[in-house]
Amino acid sequence: ADVKTLIDRYVRDVPDYPQPGVVFKDITPLLAHPAGLATVVDALVEPLQGRGIDLVAGLEARGFIFGAPAAVRLGAGFVPLRKAGKLPAQTLAESYDLEYGTATVEMHADAVTPGSRVLVVDDVLATGGTGRAAVDLIRRAGGTVVEFSVLLELGFLKGRERLADVDLRVLATV
Ligand code: 5GP
Repeated sequence: ADVKTLIDRYVRDVPDYPQPGVVFKDITPLLAHPAGLATVVDALVEPLQGRGIDLVAGLEARGFIFGAPAAVRLGAGFVPLRKAGKLPAQTLAESYDLEYGTATVEMHADAVTPGSRVLVVDDVLATGGTGRAAVDLIRRAGGTVVEFSVLLELGFLKGRERLADVDLRVLATV
């Protein structure tokens, strides 16, 4: 099956997670499918072959699952973008607003050298806050964000409006 069909069939809706009224898109059935991860990684890397990607930056935690094999396939390094307080060395941080409170994404200050060409990977684009923070971190370090790629865009949340200055690629939209 093609990647859109796999995402459509094997990403399931979990109502009322993580809070009442939210329908969470659960990718774990897709990961468990024998062709799921390979098909997604193929679709992520295919347009980027030969485009000089130096680094793949994956967003904790599901962006690690797709980002790490994409880095291997592209012959690139991997950079973890993590939630606050997880990285041991000196970090750069970007915070963004949630419905209640704020969230922070951190990156090691020396992870991206100026001029590096970076692919950013995550599983789901929702409001766009996480992706915005990731792009801003990489640019602050002097990196070029070649593309921000996600499996699934929740179109009704309009996250792409916050990423208007980024080459966004989504494998499927709901
Ligand atoms: P945003 O910052 O765009 O609102 O939310 C995107 C981030 O939250 C991503 O890191 C993503 O993993 C996570 N996220 C938000 N909603 C969902 C969802 O329904 N399913 C999954 N798998 N992740 C979500």
